[in-house]
Amino acid sequence: MEKRHTIEFYKKLGLKITPQRLAILEYLENNRDHPSAEDIYNALKDRFPSMSFATVYNTLEVLMEKGLVKELGIDSSKKRFDPVVHTHHHFICKKCGRILDVERNFEITIPPELKDCDIVDFQVVFSGFCPNCKNK
Ligand SMILES: [Zn+2]
Ligand SMILES: [Zn+2]
Repeated sequence: MEKRHTIEFYKKLGLKITPQRLAILEYLENNRDHPSAEDIYNALKDRFPSMSFATVYNTLEVLMEKGLVKELGIDSSKKRFDPVVHTHHHFICKKCGRILDVERNFEITIPPELKDCDIVDFQVVFSGFCPNCKNK
């Protein structure tokens, strides 16, 4: 979802394209805000008054199945979604919930208790207070 995908691209994935779905896809493209389903719904509901929350959620589920969106479990108050699916890390602000991307390779040693596991991914999560919140 980092580069602009065409309708053909989504059709090839077997995604049924509706104007609402397309708007959701466009909203997610190049989006680095890690929106929740509610954020997406609120951003688009004025343009698509008939759009239901379920449409947003179903579309996210399909995109996750296709590997185009990742679900982030780092915000305890709500699920957040990330259209940037290559391995990267995050900072979450404990006050405003802002999630920032951390694009860096952390060298870690696989702990011995996991030696029998097939590790495919790991994530470093920093938490604290963002520049807007730290002095308040
Ligand atoms: Zn903050
Ligand atoms: Zn991210």
